[in-house]
Amino acid sequence: MRRGADARGPAHRIEERHAPAGEVRNAQLNILSRFTLYAGATQAICAVVFALLEYKNLPLLGLLGWLGLIIAATYLSARWLNRTTLVRRRDQQPVMKIRVAVLDGAIRAAIWISMPVYAALSGAPINYTFTGGLVAMMMVSGISVAVIPAAITLWISILGLGLAFAAYYGVGATSFPGIAILTSFSGAALVGFLLLARSWQGQIDRAGVLAAKRADIRYLLQEYEDRGAGWLWQVDSQFCLTYVSPRMGELVGAATYQLLGTSLSTALGDQTGVPEILAKKERFDKIELEFGTGKAHRWVTLSGSPIIDENGDFQGYRGVGLDITDSKSSNAKLQHLANLDVLTGLPNRSRVRTLLDTALSDATDNNVSCAVMFLDLDGFKPVNDTFGHPKGDAVLKTVARRLSGIVGTRGTVGRIGGDEFAVVVNDAQSRVGVEALAEKLIAAVSDPYMIDNVQIRIGLSIGCAYGPIDGDTVDDLVRKADLALYHAKSLGRATFCNFDPQMQVEAEERVRLEHDMRQAIGTEQFHLLYQPLVSASTQRVTGFEALLRWNHPTRGPISPAVFIPIAEESGLVEQLGAWVLRQACSDAATWPDDITIAVNVSPVQLVVPALPNTVSDALQKARMSANRLELEVTESVFMSGAGNAVDVLKRLRGLGVGIALDDFGTGYSSLGYLNKAVFHKLKIDGSFVRNAATQEETVSIIKAIVMLANSFRLTITAEGVETAEDFNRMRDLGCDQIQGYLFGRPMPVERTREIVGSKWEHRLVG
Ligand code: C2E
Ligand code: CA
Ligand code: CA
Repeated sequence: MRRGADARGPAHRIEERHAPAGEVRNAQLNILSRFTLYAGATQAICAVVFALLEYKNLPLLGLLGWLGLIIAATYLSARWLNRTTLVRRRDQQPVMKIRVAVLDGAIRAAIWISMPVYAALSGAPINYTFTGGLVAMMMVSGISVAVIPAAITLWISILGLGLAFAAYYGVGATSFPGIAILTSFSGAALVGFLLLARSWQGQIDRAGVLAAKRADIRYLLQEYEDRGAGWLWQVDSQFCLTYVSPRMGELVGAATYQLLGTSLSTALGDQTGVPEILAKKERFDKIELEFGTGKAHRWVTLSGSPIIDENGDFQGYRGVGLDITDSKSSNAKLQHLANLDVLTGLPNRSRVRTLLDTALSDATDNNVSCAVMFLDLDGFKPVNDTFGHPKGDAVLKTVARRLSGIVGTRGTVGRIGGDEFAVVVNDAQSRVGVEALAEKLIAAVSDPYMIDNVQIRIGLSIGCAYGPIDGDTVDDLVRKADLALYHAKSLGRATFCNFDPQMQVEAEERVRLEHDMRQAIGTEQFHLLYQPLVSASTQRVTGFEALLRWNHPTRGPISPAVFIPIAEESGLVEQLGAWVLRQACSDAATWPDDITIAVNVSPVQLVVPALPNTVSDALQKARMSANRLELEVTESVFMSGAGNAVDVLKRLRGLGVGIALDDFGTGYSSLGYLNKAVFHKLKIDGSFVRNAATQEETVSIIKAIVMLANSFRLTITAEGVETAEDFNRMRDLGCDQIQGYLFGRPMPVERTREIVGSKWEHRLVG
């Protein structure tokens, strides 16, 4: 096939200045065929006239045979030419046909002239004036082959030479000038015909190049229609389709012939806007249209240019259409993904912000407040640590489902981080309604989760801010909801808090305190007090717990319950904790060797793998043995998401340092932590000790804890013992150590030396 064989490609073809040889030859044959009748008739008439002139001088039979031969040759030639040009297949090489045509001309010229030559040779009297005229006529009829230079050259030469030969040998030969005139005539005719052939050639070339270009353009358009997602269309001045690619038919679900004649707008399903655009009679580019076909929704773009004729009149439009459904839907998918939390399928953080932005402007416009809730799961991190991420993910998905189920059409639930969700409430005019919603959410999330036959429990804290009352920008509102959540978290589990301007004040206060703390570390603003721990059996002091104090230059004493969380949030606790360790160890080094020192360590410090180094440095500097030091950590260590906290604790144990689980009974009190094999002591929280006085069940719980601790060979300390009754009860329940105001409040290091005596005093005495 032409397309396949044309390896150079269509773009190259258009550049050519000559028509391809095949095209030229076909064109030559075509021209040739147009002269068939004229040439055949002229040549036959010339033959008949010659026969009539000479029939007396020549044998009749020979003359008739000659005439028959001429007519037969003319007929065969015409028939052959007719066939070749009719059945002209583009892939056929026509070079052979040209050769045949040249030969055919030569043979017919030779046949014709053979009779005058024979007449001359046989001595018959010939009228050279008439014969010369007939030959001249024959030569002129050679115009029929003039389009092939070789053919016309042979034609004129054979006739001319034949006549010259006859005139030269014949009886009564013409005078020399006669031959000269005939030869000049032949030459002039030949030159004229060759010039004509050249001009034809030029026309054929131009026509051929044009035709090739058209073919190439057709080919390109065909390719476009076949391969691309595009289609071509053309409309007349009434905007009715005069051409349309089959692809468009497929798109709109109609056959091409059905579309022809219908208006473009109708064919596209009466798109709004299309008639208006066409009516402008101006070029338009990629207007997007959306329409539903029988099967699905499609998007197309339409471009068109007006067709203006030579007179400048509008004749219609032609253009292209492009099916952009695929790219459109993949764009939409990307857009969707960018707005989606992959795990839960809920809107993600950025989408929540957008939704909040819309809700906020609606609220401002309609004078109805909206709200944003920030939700944080309580105790989710231990779920991940204990049960693994797949179960953690399953819990998050269930949470997402429960939240969405409850919020319903009142707003949108989104996931904004690991275990953080958000709810945008569109109509939050009724605060009571919002609070009721929050309570429902907390209750729903608190219901146990059964994941692969494992029961998991978590809680939910919620902070809420109202727009535009609490904030009129997304950023402001988000910050305030976050502050409310922070506050809710600080109040304990499963709490809901609305934003209160006081929270802002406190937040600013925290920022100021953090700034002051940064300046104060390493100065005398910080100091340690020591609270004694006594043996339940002997009531003798066995050690002290170091408790940090901050004496602010303008605010006075600030409770560690206030400044430790700030130090933890800002990361300052690392520096502060290292100082406490060094100071406590150096103070403890002055006590007798059997007196222990307990130092509180924040979970944040445990995330830093350098803690064991800090501890061994402090011990080394104080020249104190590691078994006199114990570090107190709370259960929150396991909730901070610091997976390596247990590793750090084990390395500390490896140093010989004791690890106490502090505040046991608050927080999550999961007994599971006890078998982590890192603790040597368990400290029962003061609130338990107090409650034991009135609540029988607390006593039972303490009994169970003691039993369990004993099985793990843990020392048990009761904290917050203020009264003799507390002391007796805790001792009787099996506690080994007692700590509390009953035996001593936190005191300066000088006072501790008075109680336990100093090493040096011992030595001095000893
Ligand atoms: P904690 O580790 O539970 O420390 C015991 C707290 O209970 C101390 O409060 C102590 O003064 C108080 N207390 C002791 N006996 C009694 C009693 O009989 N009744 C009552 N009502 N309270 C008693 P403090 O010193 O205000 O410390 C509060 C918390 O601050 C500590 O709780 C501890 O978690 C943290 N903290 C203190 N110093 C440090 C420190 O150096 N580093 C770290 N990371 N945290 C510290
Ligand atoms: Ca403690
Ligand atoms: Ca404690």
